[in-house]
Amino acid sequence: MSRASFLLPERLAEYYAGVAVREPPLFAELRRETAKLPQAVMQIAPEQGQLMAILVRLMGAKRCIEVGVFTGYSSLAVASALPDDGELLACDVSEEWCAIARRYWQKAGVDRKIRLVLAPAVQTLDRELAAGKAGAYDFAFIDADKPAYPDYLERCLKLLRPGGLIAVDNTLWSGRVADPAERDKDTEALRAFNTRVSRDERVDLCLVPIADGLTLLRKR
Ligand code: CA
Repeated sequence: MSRASFLLPERLAEYYAGVAVREPPLFAELRRETAKLPQAVMQIAPEQGQLMAILVRLMGAKRCIEVGVFTGYSSLAVASALPDDGELLACDVSEEWCAIARRYWQKAGVDRKIRLVLAPAVQTLDRELAAGKAGAYDFAFIDADKPAYPDYLERCLKLLRPGGLIAVDNTLWSGRVADPAERDKDTEALRAFNTRVSRDERVDLCLVPIADGLTLLRKR
């Protein structure tokens, strides 16, 4: 399988995969199972899972949020990096995809650290806020429907403590955000999101050119 991406030419991508990707066998098994789905491209890259796990460990994060579970690779990476008393609130609407996720969480022994809520994420996050959880979370990963990114961001900003980190996926969108000829709604939404957060004084920002672009926002 070619590892070439819009960011790395093939030779460098092969080299990178050889020295920089440490994927546990169970994670690789989930990747192979997900590859059979037509939506497989929605799965995060292994190096991105590694980065998020390092960030979660560095922060000593205990309470995390995930908006968009898909087949559970990112939640597997984050939950594995959490301490035994940590919790990941996982938000998704697909029973079918989350059934796969659940199987792997169980196999990894991290299922007890994951609270999956099958409902629109805005509703779930609003319920957390109504329950007095503002400021209670350390880390959030946003990787769902692109036009709703601002809705997820605003809620995660409230739910996170100062110094908490929000990671937002697909912000380079295979390079399409930089091509003015691309006018579809997802590309437009990501472009608007990137512009908006670039000026947002509530956060420190770093858009990491890894995988499909991962924007890190630290709540001030
Ligand atoms: Ca994604």
